[in-house]
Amino acid sequence: MKQELVFEAPRRQMPPRHFADLDEAGRLQAVADLGLPAFRAKQLANQYYGRLTADPAAMTDLPAALRGRLAETLFPTLLTAVRQIECDAGETRKTLWRAGDGTTVESVLMRYPQRNTVCISSQAGCGMACPFCATGQGGLTRNLSAAEILEQVRAAAATLRDEHGDRLSNIVFMGMGEPLANYNRVISVLRRIIAAPPNGFGISARSVTVSTVGLAPAIRRLADEGLGVTLALSLHAPDDELRDTLVPVNNRWNLAEALDAARYYADTTGRRISVEYALIRDVNDQPWRADLLGKKLHAALGPLVHVNLIPLNPTPGSQWDASPKPVEREFVRRVRAKGVTCTVRDTRGREIAAACGQLAAEG
Ligand code: SAH
Repeated sequence: MKQELVFEAPRRQMPPRHFADLDEAGRLQAVADLGLPAFRAKQLANQYYGRLTADPAAMTDLPAALRGRLAETLFPTLLTAVRQIECDAGETRKTLWRAGDGTTVESVLMRYPQRNTVCISSQAGCGMACPFCATGQGGLTRNLSAAEILEQVRAAAATLRDEHGDRLSNIVFMGMGEPLANYNRVISVLRRIIAAPPNGFGISARSVTVSTVGLAPAIRRLADEGLGVTLALSLHAPDDELRDTLVPVNNRWNLAEALDAARYYADTTGRRISVEYALIRDVNDQPWRADLLGKKLHAALGPLVHVNLIPLNPTPGSQWDASPKPVEREFVRRVRAKGVTCTVRDTRGREIAAACGQLAAEG
């Protein structure tokens, strides 16, 4: 079935306001509205971003009488974990979350020897309709609030601390949704992620990756925000004819426009662009397409690009499959021959439908 492109999320009730929706000024205002002294704002920020606590009952440095009121007004429960599945010998864990309105989203925590990465969702569903992606097949339910996105980060950081005595180092917006279609909320989330505690989680901007289908104007806007996060561009084809079908938004902003915007991003931020390319057997894996990809990326971005090949994760009901390994190796070789660095992404989470593009939140 062919899906329609949806840029505007359906008008649905958003969750109640949460502490994590607020910036520093907003937090001060919120505590003032509750008739509390300003220092409480900092105390709460310390609890949330520093101690990773979202439950006022556990905030023992606050007067007991105040905790209940705070739970009601500033810390409503936004996401409840309804299912967790592990694979890769426990190094990968997918969590299915249910929001207050019954909407479900997923996040995936991946532990590596040198880093810990959480893959988070920015929308419930997705309106971008890429035919090879499980999320894309279900359409867009609604945007997530800033706090709903940040709660996925906080939960991952708390799990790493409590179960492994470790820290969260990397965040990728590669779960459900198109982050740049939920632009304002994602920007405030990025600011909270990057800000040093107690104002945020204090994660280095370069360790945060925003992945997009290529909404060109939004990429330029993001460049001008001065955040310095890593941009991943989901290309999947080096020619408009094929990309029009694999990434339908290409009909609105084509390859040249997406690459121009990526160039602007790289020039403005000094950050190398990560190009995502899901290798699909007999669809986009031909040697000539590898040559064309390398050539176009070298011309557009020079050394400011890295290609991440993702072996396609087949989704239920799809006729597509990953390319055979020899084809994949030849593809890598040809892209590199054009002077563009290229590696193959590992396929964490495959057995638990937690790999790239498999998040569908069916419960
Ligand atoms: N909307 C954003 C984030 C989505 S997921 C984007 O499109 O960039 C992150 C990456 O996984 C994207 O590059 C997406 O194209 C890729 N992906 C989606 N489905 C996939 C699948 N079945 N196999 C491999 N990669 C997939």
